[in-house]
Amino acid sequence: MDAQKLYVLVPGDSPEYKPAKNFWFCSTCKRLASSEEAGNKCCQPRFCGCGVQLEQTPFTVCGDCQDKNVWEKAVEVEYDGGALYDSQSGKIHYNDEDLLAEYDGRPWDEVPEWFHPCPAVKWAGVNISDCLENSMQEFDDEGDCEKQIVDIDGLFTLVEEWNQKQTLMMLEPDHKQKVKLSKPDDWHEGP
Ligand SMILES: [Zn+2]
Ligand SMILES: [Zn+2]
Repeated sequence: MDAQKLYVLVPGDSPEYKPAKNFWFCSTCKRLASSEEAGNKCCQPRFCGCGVQLEQTPFTVCGDCQDKNVWEKAVEVEYDGGALYDSQSGKIHYNDEDLLAEYDGRPWDEVPEWFHPCPAVKWAGVNISDCLENSMQEFDDEGDCEKQIVDIDGLFTLVEEWNQKQTLMMLEPDHKQKVKLSKPDDWHEGP
């Protein structure tokens, strides 16, 4: 919060503390700052444009505004009868009937306005680069271990071929698109 000048001990015949030229620190969290102004700003509450106070995160907008931005940017598409993602419950449903059954007996205005379509996406397979990196961590002090591996290209070709054979599919919400459901004629709001 309050910036304080950083002092460093200068060694010599009579060691003494001198102010470090371009360094201050935040008196609250002790983090270093490169200017007095930055030191003052550190640990001060930050706010989203909507007025909500932000946690100490790198984000400049709050979670609700992030969600709102996603919905605003998403393109409205016609419902194709496929799987849907309900961001309110965080669940994927196989179709609209399945999804609306979750809201059975509740007023229609409690049903979210928008859902994301969930197209089936093919599993990309094993990421061999990550696997290699993990398995070599203990051996790779210098960071040049890969050069010593015999036939590394062969390994990549082999795994790539294997990945191509995979048929595993999964449903993944498409956050760039949104679908609106219409209220069924027989929607009952109460018991
Ligand atoms: Zn601070
Ligand atoms: Zn906000």
